[in-house]
Amino acid sequence: MLQSYNPPYNATMVEKVIDAGGIIVGKANMDEFAMGSGSLDSCHGAVINPWNLLTFSCNQIQRSDWCIAGGSSGGSAAAVAAGACLAAFGSDTGGSTRNPASYCGIVGLKPTYGLLSRHGLIPLVNSMDVPGIMTKTIEDSVILLNAVAGHDIRDSTTVQESLTPFTLDHEIDLSKLHVGIPKEFHAPGLSEEVVEMWRATADHLEQAGAKVSQVYMPHTRHCLICYHVLCCCEVASNFSRYTGIEFGLRSGSEESTEELYAQNRHYGFNDVVRGRILAGNFFLLRKNFDRFFLKAQRIRRLISNDFKAVFDSGVHFLLTPTTLTDAPSFNWFCEKDNRSRCAEQDIFTTPANMAGIPAVSIPLRISRRGLPLSLQLMGPHFSESRLLSLAHWLE
Ligand code: GLN
Repeated sequence: MLQSYNPPYNATMVEKVIDAGGIIVGKANMDEFAMGSGSLDSCHGAVINPWNLLTFSCNQIQRSDWCIAGGSSGGSAAAVAAGACLAAFGSDTGGSTRNPASYCGIVGLKPTYGLLSRHGLIPLVNSMDVPGIMTKTIEDSVILLNAVAGHDIRDSTTVQESLTPFTLDHEIDLSKLHVGIPKEFHAPGLSEEVVEMWRATADHLEQAGAKVSQVYMPHTRHCLICYHVLCCCEVASNFSRYTGIEFGLRSGSEESTEELYAQNRHYGFNDVVRGRILAGNFFLLRKNFDRFFLKAQRIRRLISNDFKAVFDSGVHFLLTPTTLTDAPSFNWFCEKDNRSRCAEQDIFTTPANMAGIPAVSIPLRISRRGLPLSLQLMGPHFSESRLLSLAHWLE
């Protein structure tokens, strides 16, 4: 739909980087309209995980049993991992910064909802979208966060007060920290290597003086289905702007306005996007509105309340995996339909978007296959300085 569209203005995030003296290298590939978890559903082709070049032979890459970069902001993660740039932005609605960061072995930060401006970011699910920051190190994340965070008159959901500068506490006192391990994140499909790394990291924190305990978040098991309903509803509403009249793809018959809209939208969107628009319009039908949309909104509140209860009970941060495994192979990923891919890929990342809290994926190990393995830390709203300080300690 937007393949040949050149926006007449810069996103606030981009403008702020330029103002701070940064150099913009380019735009990165991603899943169409940020819908996906593999960066394969793009009109520009698939993103290849740069780790393949270390781990696999060229023959394997050609035979297509190479590993995916994750998504939806896979191009950004691959660019940082390959050293093509120092940092990149992604869009994080349900995990699109943290998932590819995990598979490409870099740091992926999803800040608190409202900390960074969404002006210029194409909306997917307005109530969850945040620009994400991808870097090689936590220190670089903090530098970038300080450059881009804060109020923007063009995004009414951005925070009014100035919360910068975010700083790293290099002498973090772990004896004052309580880290929670949510029981519900022990999901089926979690690889042994990830479980082992999760356990070892929790032990490491405990040995260094932190209090580590299991916590319960009973509503997280509804997260994926709830995310799916809310995502489709917001997509159905958001995507009504793409008619091909003022901008975007103009294709096919101009016999009637309806015909023109239908053809532009048929040729301008891939199957995943069309599927979500259709599902969203179904959930929003008058007879379904309460059963699906309102119910999902109520469940979202319960999921968010689980986080609040845990943090109010004295837990400072939550430690979980970012993804079930290391980067899946292209062939394995392609065997699944979009819905089951999302179910597997977004399981640990969507909860933070539901609650609007900050989360960071930190690369910690290399798997037996020679690929990166990462864990995720989540904290209360606007706890970025302390969250990143703990992530830096673990790094
Ligand atoms: N995989 C999720 C989806 O397809 C997440 C997308 C995102 O964070 N942009 O909706």
